[in-house]
Parts: sequence; C-alpha cells; structure tokens
Amino acid sequence: MDGCPDAGGADPITEETMSFVDLHCHSTASDGTFAPSDVVALAVRSGLSALALTDHDTVAGVPEASEAARKAGIDFLAGIEISCDVPKPATMHLLGYGVDPESPVLLDLTKRLIAGRNDRNPKIINRLNELGIKITMEELKAEAKGGVIGRPHIAAILLRKGYVSSMKNAFDNYLAPGGAAYFDKERVSPRQAIDMVRASGGLPVLAHPSQLRSENDAQLERTIKDLADLGLAGLEVIHSDHNDALVARYTALADKYGLLKTGGSDFHGTRKKDISLGIANGRRIPRDFYDALVERLRPATKPDAGTRGRGDAERS
Ligand code: AMP
Ligand code: ZN
Ligand code: FE
Ligand code: FE
Repeated sequence: MDGCPDAGGADPITEETMSFVDLHCHSTASDGTFAPSDVVALAVRSGLSALALTDHDTVAGVPEASEAARKAGIDFLAGIEISCDVPKPATMHLLGYGVDPESPVLLDLTKRLIAGRNDRNPKIINRLNELGIKITMEELKAEAKGGVIGRPHIAAILLRKGYVSSMKNAFDNYLAPGGAAYFDKERVSPRQAIDMVRASGGLPVLAHPSQLRSENDAQLERTIKDLADLGLAGLEVIHSDHNDALVARYTALADKYGLLKTGGSDFHGTRKKDISLGIANGRRIPRDFYDALVERLRPATKPDAGTRGRGDAERS
C-alpha cells in the first residue's frame, strides 16, 4: 500500500484471524501516524473482521474510516476516546462506541476539548523554550498534520531533535505530571463524559482500567461500581497495558456488574512502535466483543446489525 508505512499487525489473512477485531486505535485525526483509511487497510491486511476508530477528542476520522471499511467489506464502529477529570495520579479515559459523528452534543464536546488543548499547547511550548529547547507552535502544528494535537506530537519532535532518548523519556522528563513542562488541560467529569456519549447515541466504556492506578482491588471495584451506577456500559478488559492477571481481574468485574467486555491494542502507528494493530500484549481481541457491543447498540430487532461486510454498524 503506497504511503502506508508498515507498523506490524500484518499477519497473513487466515480463517483464524477473521474472528478477531480491534476496538481501540488512533489515526492522524489525533495522535496516530496512519490516516484513517490506512488504519482500515492495515486492519484488512491483518485479517481483522471489524474495527472501531477511537481518536482522542474527535470523530473527524470516522467518515473516512467508515467509507474505507465499507469498501473493504469489514465492519466498522464509530468511536472516540475522552480524557476525564479524576484526581491524580489516576488517568481516566472513556471510550464512546457507536456515537453519531454528527451529534450536536458530541460536536460541542469535541470543540470544547480541542479548545482546552489549544489553550494548553502554547504553555507547554513556552515552558520548553524557557528550558532552552528549540520548538515552535508551527512545528507542532506541522507534526499533527491538522489532527487534534496531543503530547505525543511534542514528544515526537523532542525525540527527532535529540532532546530525549525515547517517547517515554519525553513524558517522564517533560510532558507527564511531574515533568518540567507539564500543564493540564480542560477535562470533563466522568459523569459528564458518560452522559454525553449516551446522548450522542453511543455506549460509554472505561478504557484501560489499569490507568486508574487503583491502590487495591476494593478501590478498583468501588470505582467500577460507581461508574456503572452513572451509566457505564462496558470495561476494556483486553489492552496493550494488561497482562493475563489484569485481563482476568477486569473480566471478572465486568461480569459481576453486567458490563460489556471490550478490547483493543491502542494502536498509534509508528508513534508507539511496539504496538501492532489487532494485538494487545500478545492477545487478540475476540469478534464476540464487537458483536455484543453492536447488539447492545442495536437490539436484536435489526437482524443485519453487525453482520460481516455490511459495514458501518452505526448506520445500519
Ligand atoms: P494527550 O492527548 O496530550 O493527553 O496525550 C495522551 C497520549 O499520550 C496517549 O496516547 C497516551 O498513551 C500518551 N501518553 C501519556 N502518558 C505517556 C507516557 N508516560 N509515555 C508515553 N506515552 C504517554
Ligand atoms: Zn493517543
Ligand atoms: Fe487512552
Ligand atoms: Fe487510546
């Protein structure tokens, strides 16, 4: 595929891989390095039967990906990943699946979140300049290629210019809380994010629960229960950050609280080189996860919802 760098995930297509999906990935609409249609092309090459695109704070990549999936004959679900306001050191990201990309509620929210980023980015750049690092807003905009700007774009520039030795190093030294150029951005509360995903026709799912950094099992369970009471619909049990023990723990919690189970690689293209589309810490994501999501979005009265090759579950 021309212009589509190979970042793994390109196993030969077999009957076996056709039963797998990826429900968490990023494109150039946010901080991934593959265009939305190239993520879909990679999903096809990797033999996946369904994909959800979950860019940070935007659904701008959804129409392109949805159209590419329709043409390629794989299933597609619109998605988004929203950062919520929770006390540090926790990070809470909420995935919204099956949202209507034209929903005014959703578009208002994304506008507000992007404004929060636009407010934060110059602060980070100014602080880096004060620290003697040569980086400009123009370079940052060029790095993001018109997509929603995130810290990984800044990290990539720092890495390329030799100011840091790795992306992790860029976050540890500069961009993460405690780093020399850390600034927070406007976030929405978990309740608001859950409400807005539901108001946009989507299902709210807690991304990578490991990043909640719960102190113990009891605290984790309390948080999940509270979120379920607020309307959370699912838990991302399989993720690149999750080892077997975590997958088992989140699966048990999802089952206990009647939550859907989802999974994804959190693919970002070449910006996270160790992550391949369709593979999360060595695991694949079962097709059942996608089918159950679609079933919850579109109750069984629509027999064609989510069947292979129909494309766009959100439009069926
Ligand atoms: P932002 O959208 O600016 O909040 O950046 C979020 C992105 O930064 C996500 O893709 C995270 O995976 C990535 N990220 C956050 N913390 C780190 C870290 N310590 N090392 C590498 N990537 C990180
Ligand atoms: Zn990201
Ligand atoms: Fe995330
Ligand atoms: Fe993500």
